[in-house]
Amino acid sequence: MPQILVLAEHAHGVLKPATGAAAGFARQVCAAAGGAFEILVLGAGVGPVAAAAAHYGAAAVLVADAPALQEPLADNYAHLIAEVARARTATLIVAASSTFSKDVLPRAAALLDAGMVSDVVGVQAEAGELVFRRPIFAGNVIATVRLAGAIKAVSVRSGAFAIPPKAEIASNLTPVPVNPGALPSRAAFVSREEKAATRPDPTEARIVVSGGRALKTSEDFERLVGGLADRLGAAVGSSRALVDAGITPNSLQIGQTGKIVAPDLYLAVGISGAIQHLAGMKDAKVIAAINKDADAPIFEIADYGLVADVYAAVPELLAKLKP
Ligand SMILES: Cc1cc2nc3c(=O)[nH]c(=O)nc-3n(C[C@H](O)[C@H](O)[C@H](O)COP(=O)(O)OP(=O)(O)OC[C@H]3O[C@@H](n4cnc5c(N)ncnc54)[C@H](O)[C@@H]3O)c2cc1C
Repeated sequence: MPQILVLAEHAHGVLKPATGAAAGFARQVCAAAGGAFEILVLGAGVGPVAAAAAHYGAAAVLVADAPALQEPLADNYAHLIAEVARARTATLIVAASSTFSKDVLPRAAALLDAGMVSDVVGVQAEAGELVFRRPIFAGNVIATVRLAGAIKAVSVRSGAFAIPPKAEIASNLTPVPVNPGALPSRAAFVSREEKAATRPDPTEARIVVSGGRALKTSEDFERLVGGLADRLGAAVGSSRALVDAGITPNSLQIGQTGKIVAPDLYLAVGISGAIQHLAGMKDAKVIAAINKDADAPIFEIADYGLVADVYAAVPELLAKLKP
């Protein structure tokens, strides 16, 4: 039976909802194959994060809270994850697919000599073995994957697994001793430059409004796409065409080489629907698109489509939506 260790992800003292999806995956595995899951929180001053993680129904929340863990240096975190996994005899290490887990999880897997599969969107037990499903070729093919070895590491797409309902009884918080002297010292934290985010993160938002090449300038993008997002309390996204043109920052790119999102509503404004873009948003529950070309591929997957010029349709929409 799998013993699962779920890595918590957090920022600015707040647990990220993607951790809930990783816990949802762990619960699904336990329902299919038995076993139990624990959540590991790493960081400094992470009491509130651990308290929030204690409501996902885990057998325990393991808390490694030390000043040396203030910054998520991948070497340090991977070292501790491997140590905790060994101590708890974990056989499955799980994290949400994210920049954080891309940095940390493969290193932990290597230290544990574990097989790893990323971007998992489905799991089942077959003859006592776990079988994972993950998209490949920009989401056009779903691969079914088995991992050899006693220990496995997986990252899971947060849109694919439901966050567990809040458990009435909180999990026990179990402190994990941290010996700063034993942490790897090959990398040292120097500084962090962070842009103050005024809008939600597209990977976590319920609604994402994305703009494409139809938007001619940064000002137009901000006025039309940003304006629409603000009216809807939504996150903002962008196609790669705008990133390449320097109109939007790389951090907004949705798609195969950008962020993967699965919001309740994805509104594509002047985006053609290239497969590389679809790879990042086609799991949205509802897709709406505005495009002046009735034959644009985006309309093939859109639930709602408006054939119109964005420079006319979006101001009209903005006028109709109450500020
Ligand atoms: C390896 C690789 C990885 C890639 N990764 C990504 C990725 O992660 N994300 C991504 O987005 N792309 C990615 N791309 C690029 C992708 O192939 C497309 O080039 C890109 O998505 C096109 O962006 P777009 O839809 O904004 O532009 P276009 O394809 O040029 O489409 C613009 C659309 O706007 C419509 N339009 C124009 N003017 C107006 C108007 N005034 N009103 C209404 N509609 C209008 C047009 O009809 C058209 O459909 C990748 C490509 C490669 C090769």
